[in-house]
Amino acid sequence: MGENESRQVQEVDVAILGAGFSGLGMAIELLKRGREDFVILERGADVGGTWEFNTYPGCACDVPSNLYSFSFAPNPDWKRTYSRQPQIREYLHGVADRFGVRDRVRTNTQVTEASWSVSEGRWDIETSTGPVQARVLITGAGPLADPKLPDVPGIETFEGHSFHSARWDHDYDLRGKRVAAIGTGASAIQFVPEIQPQVAQLHVIQRTPPWILPHTARPVSKLERALYRRLPVVQRIQRGFVYTARELLAIGFTRAPKLLSLVQRLAERHMDRQISDPELRRKVQPDYTIGCKRILPSNKWYPALGADNVELHTGGVKEFKPHSIVTGDGTEIEVDAVVYGTGFQVTDMPIGHFVRGRDGNTLAEHWNGSPRAHLGMTVSGFPNLFLLLGPNTGLGHSSMVYMIESQIARVAAALETMDERAAETIEVSPEAERRFTESVDERMQSTVWNSGCSSWYIDQTGRNSTLWPDFTFVFRRDSAQIEAGEFEFDSERTRTEVPA
Ligand code: NAP
Repeated sequence: MGENESRQVQEVDVAILGAGFSGLGMAIELLKRGREDFVILERGADVGGTWEFNTYPGCACDVPSNLYSFSFAPNPDWKRTYSRQPQIREYLHGVADRFGVRDRVRTNTQVTEASWSVSEGRWDIETSTGPVQARVLITGAGPLADPKLPDVPGIETFEGHSFHSARWDHDYDLRGKRVAAIGTGASAIQFVPEIQPQVAQLHVIQRTPPWILPHTARPVSKLERALYRRLPVVQRIQRGFVYTARELLAIGFTRAPKLLSLVQRLAERHMDRQISDPELRRKVQPDYTIGCKRILPSNKWYPALGADNVELHTGGVKEFKPHSIVTGDGTEIEVDAVVYGTGFQVTDMPIGHFVRGRDGNTLAEHWNGSPRAHLGMTVSGFPNLFLLLGPNTGLGHSSMVYMIESQIARVAAALETMDERAAETIEVSPEAERRFTESVDERMQSTVWNSGCSSWYIDQTGRNSTLWPDFTFVFRRDSAQIEAGEFEFDSERTRTEVPA
């Protein structure tokens, strides 16, 4: 692309950042409501978001397939009750095609800057494939998008092969290698059992043991699939059943953590059944209340840890050397490769650093270490900006797609309200945002996530700015109402020029 061509500004009414569940769902809703003037900016080579990028062996979703899908696009062909990554990716590609949004996606397009222009009342967006100007910016970047590497001395000096689980290097042959897998979170518990039979030696580096429950995943039978196809209502009922059962868990997570002791007992029994070595049993015993960190389902994790070629090291990693890593207890292990299952930049989300509001400050500067947004979506000082899956929308028990759909409906309603008022700008009132944050913080007090473990749900100020501390239907109910005074339209304040 030539210099002039690349500087040509694409002007659109709405720019959507990201083509995962959020971005695709938003685009489909816009089309349904007759809004054709939008573009999706996607850094990947195709649609799918997290399900495009995470291709590690064993990658799957731990929310049942019938719930982890769009309500408007049920899939009677799910092969398993808990889907694996290839089929979720295939589902999203199919949805993008079926609902006609694929040709709206500008792929291989990294957004590097998005600034609100007070004088023009538009978002100026810089991307790797040329600038875009939009009246409204909707981010669907996802909180689990940018891999995080451990902040450990010497990591850059390691000369062996290394990669993060979310950027799996399929060209690297792990067979016969000495490998360290760092982390024991949701990703690691899925890829470790898959690579264990291939590698010569596997060192699993644990910092905090997770609570593991038995997995109930199974293939969906031909009969079930035929039934879902002929009688879609059966699949809807099944979805409703799964939704309700999961929502009951929210009582334990958010209101009465003591109830989770029943679940904890199940996890203890799972450990006892699967581990015979008392030393290993001791190492994997968590010392915090179940649910405080994400509960993980697996029938393969403990057997993999017990395999002859696996050693579990507790205490994390202390240092990297060119050909080895040093664990927390000072043991030095020579390895050929390191696989990081060390999670994502959640509370310091990368979009925070390149989205600039009315006063020229970035979201990260505005948040000052603790992300806050009204219903996880709108931030005062940032007109015509909607975050999908922004702060305090995460869940420990149910489907993020449900949260996304709640937010999409609100964004669409807000855009319609703008049209009705012939308003050029919409911005959440600081008062509404403050009240929402206070209410979230208050509800957070009684949750299990506040029971004293360290987790990535907690930001650098000590606040849980990641999770939604209530039932998901409460979030949907609250999102469905736009109350008087919540938004300011074309207000004096939002039109104020930034002082030079
Ligand atoms: P994660 O849950 O953040 O786990 C990261 C792991 O790395 C933790 O065990 C963490 O230990 C460890 N770690 C981080 N820094 C370390 C260090 N310096 N030394 C040693 N260990 C270190 O990341 P994830 O496993 O990628 O999962 C992230 C989220 O993605 C999940 O919670 C879930 O929401 C989603 N996910 C879902 C699925 C699924 O549906 N099955 C699968 C994958 C991911 P600490 O616990 O001590 O911090």
